[in-house]
Amino acid sequence: MAARPSAQSTPAEVLVLGGGVAGLTTALCLLRAGQRVRVAAKAYVAGTTSAVAAAFWYPYRAYPEAMVAPWARVSYARFAELTRSAPEAGVLRRETVEVFPQPAPPPAWASDLPDFEFVAAADLPPGYGAGHRFTSFVIETGIYLPWLMRQVEAAGGELTVHAYASLDEAVRDCSRVVDCTGLGARELAPDPSLYAVRGQVVRVRNPGISRVWIDEHSGGGITYIVPRSHDVVLGGTADEREEDTAPDPARTPGIIARCARLEPALAGAEIVSVAVGLRPARPSVRLEAETRPGGRVVHNYGHGGAGVTLSWGCAEAAAHLLLQT
Ligand SMILES: Cc1cc2nc3c(=O)[nH]c(=O)nc-3n(C[C@H](O)[C@H](O)[C@H](O)COP(=O)(O)OP(=O)(O)OC[C@H]3O[C@@H](n4cnc5c(N)ncnc54)[C@H](O)[C@@H]3O)c2cc1C
Repeated sequence: MAARPSAQSTPAEVLVLGGGVAGLTTALCLLRAGQRVRVAAKAYVAGTTSAVAAAFWYPYRAYPEAMVAPWARVSYARFAELTRSAPEAGVLRRETVEVFPQPAPPPAWASDLPDFEFVAAADLPPGYGAGHRFTSFVIETGIYLPWLMRQVEAAGGELTVHAYASLDEAVRDCSRVVDCTGLGARELAPDPSLYAVRGQVVRVRNPGISRVWIDEHSGGGITYIVPRSHDVVLGGTADEREEDTAPDPARTPGIIARCARLEPALAGAEIVSVAVGLRPARPSVRLEAETRPGGRVVHNYGHGGAGVTLSWGCAEAAAHLLLQT
């Protein structure tokens, strides 16, 4: 598998812009629907926000809620299926506990999950007043994104490296385009309503943890613990309109301390790496078709803190929109 320069032998029927989780999943859906697809991206895997994501199934900072819940529900079913049919894809089933200082209502998506339940007070970590538990999926992006690339190529898709300067340039190359450029759509679309929400994560060696934890409401910032096969991703931060992608060493001890409140073994865990990504945030996910001179563009970007969670639901919806006409 190798992303090649943009010269291609057969003209593509659809040009997918973006090689993150949104672009690759959309390309796969279009290939499965029988389309000839070329993906063009500035970067694949490293260099995408998708590679930095924690990345577990959890609708976070993506809107509107009424659309996010059904998109997330589709992805939940696809990830469940992948744990059975493609163990090499890097999707892990994990017990997940979200905790709160005070009693909290169930989230909008709770009724979509097979095993959502409230946690008894006696089973909560010290200092917490409420919690709920459900099965989620952890997507190991270092395994999953290359797996998606292999699926795209195996289905006959072409992966190319090219940075488009405008959508007009893309439509000149191919009359049907899907725009999955994440934060890149700010310049490409152009879309001034897109903005970055900076997230810093700390990856540590796994001291034997298998449960995902989330605590968004205890102060100090969004806190999550995401155990993968060889490490644990600890988060995090959510700094609106901050775009410095260099890790801030001053934030790391606070992230670890907040996580160690939930899993004390993390206090002394060895740090493997610290990474920063910019969530592509928007008042609402942009999933719509646009007619332009010479072609048609379907937009699929602006998934905020839930691009992995929404990937299959939005990709299937984007493919459907494109194929409608
Ligand atoms: C710290 C952190 C933790 C996160 N945790 C989670 C989580 O647990 N669960 C979850 O669901 N989500 C999580 N997210 C959010 C998730 O990472 C994003 O929503 C998702 O990765 C967005 O995917 P994307 O494919 O739209 O964008 P990206 O992954 O950024 O991909 C965009 C693609 O477009 C390409 N591109 C851009 N401009 C152009 C251009 N002009 N021409 C050609 N190509 C272009 C880029 O090179 C890239 O290939 C997290 C994010 C961060 C930062």
